[in-house]
Amino acid sequence: MRPFTLLSTWLPLGSVLAFPFNSIDRTISARNNNIHDAISELQPLLSQDAVLIQSSDPGWDELQIRGTSPRISPDYSVIVEAATAADVENTVKIAAQFNIPFLAVSGTHGWTKTLNELKYGFQINLRKLNSTFLDEGAYTATIGGGTLQHETTRDLFAYNKQAVTGLCECVSVAGPLLGGGHSLLQARHGFALDNLISADVVLANGTAVTASSDTNPDLFWALKGAGHNFGIVTSMQLKVYDIQSNWNVNVFIFTNDKLETVLKIVNELDCDPNRPTNLVLEGVVTRIPNVDPENPSFLYIVSYEGTPEEAAPYFAPFEAASPVTTQKFTDVDYLSIYSVTKSSLDSASCTRGRNALGSGASLPYWNVTAARAAIDIFAELTADARYADSVFLLENYGMQGVRKADASASSLSAEEREYPNLANPTIWWDGEEEKDTEDAMGREEDGTRVDDMVTE
Ligand SMILES: Cc1cc2nc3c(=O)[nH]c(=O)nc-3n(C[C@H](O)[C@H](O)[C@H](O)COP(=O)(O)OP(=O)(O)OC[C@H]3O[C@@H](n4cnc5c(N)ncnc54)[C@H](O)[C@@H]3O)c2cc1C
Repeated sequence: MRPFTLLSTWLPLGSVLAFPFNSIDRTISARNNNIHDAISELQPLLSQDAVLIQSSDPGWDELQIRGTSPRISPDYSVIVEAATAADVENTVKIAAQFNIPFLAVSGTHGWTKTLNELKYGFQINLRKLNSTFLDEGAYTATIGGGTLQHETTRDLFAYNKQAVTGLCECVSVAGPLLGGGHSLLQARHGFALDNLISADVVLANGTAVTASSDTNPDLFWALKGAGHNFGIVTSMQLKVYDIQSNWNVNVFIFTNDKLETVLKIVNELDCDPNRPTNLVLEGVVTRIPNVDPENPSFLYIVSYEGTPEEAAPYFAPFEAASPVTTQKFTDVDYLSIYSVTKSSLDSASCTRGRNALGSGASLPYWNVTAARAAIDIFAELTADARYADSVFLLENYGMQGVRKADASASSLSAEEREYPNLANPTIWWDGEEEKDTEDAMGREEDGTRVDDMVTE
């Protein structure tokens, strides 16, 4: 990644540590007073629809649940449900004034462990900034900073339009976009960030600015790839496109021994200069006991936007690899594709309140020997019933649109635009037992077993 200066959306955590007391009790009491004073100042500044929630209030527990909790559980002193951009500005200003760290929350599916470093902070919940306004003539949409993928997708679908968002319905539009944004549409239109026209952002000092290629262009560049660190996006303008046609999807289930065969087919498709931009390939290694009680199986989803006749040649090599089963879906519209490809709100991926430990790597091609070694580690870990429904994603969304975009216009690392394959093991388990977390990680220093899987 190109070097950049981190202006954290969290105020410097050092400020939390800077209380001039030695006793922990006195520190906590000072902290509570600080929070209390901050709330008193903030409350009258908030809009009518904003809600300030403290730990004894109804709704507190629900707003602690993340896609990845309890493993990722930032420690909040108060939650502000912002209803306007001004609410975000005022909350950040008060947080700055009282040296209180803060964290923006939209889809709750961020899973980096550093989120746990938030102590006694403000949660700035953006879910009330949930709107999608289409400008049909301009082919743009203005989307609120807390809007989820499925909300924007549904609102634009009503006009036969689509925007490039993330893939999973449960993630926000802003979250994936600020870090890149892989999706079904990337081969045609680039990453989500390539489709950003402008963003309204509240900086760490509470100042609201607009960033675009003309206004604050440095900030605009930084938002596109390193965006979670530069401010809170309250609204963004994205390109939109006409929906071209429906999809045909085949969901193949292979036994584990077909891993190499299938990945070689994917490598061949990637080398094909005529690979269409409307072909998406998603693999999931996971345990399906009624297919194979001993080993993980390999689910492979091939999606093609176009007619069954056009799609058929792309399904054929996978059919020839002798799947155990094939589910065929024809004439799938752009709303339903997310259920069919197992990324809808009710999918396993979108479950909330489960521990998740993941890692990821972008790869130039599938090295089948390394993939087998990685899957062997995954098989060993998931043989333990606590982790049995974990998944190892082997995805390939197509890269033509991504490579066509101007790489220098974003802060995203160059290899993200070159490497078509994503290896992404995700270990899920339930509960709060430390032993379960330790065993999921496998070792304490120098990474975890999921890191081992992606470095294979
Ligand atoms: C189940 C699951 C599915 C995923 N699916 C996809 C996918 O399909 N495509 C893809 O590219 N990635 C995907 N990811 C990765 C995902 O894009 C990132 O984890 C993303 O940061 C999640 O954003 P969120 O708003 O859902 O989560 P949150 O936890 O609410 O936010 C994550 C981070 O973004 C910051 N943030 C949120 N909203 C804003 C905002 N408006 N302005 C500034 N900062 C903000 C938060 O402060 C936090 O640091 C997935 C991850 C998981 C766990």
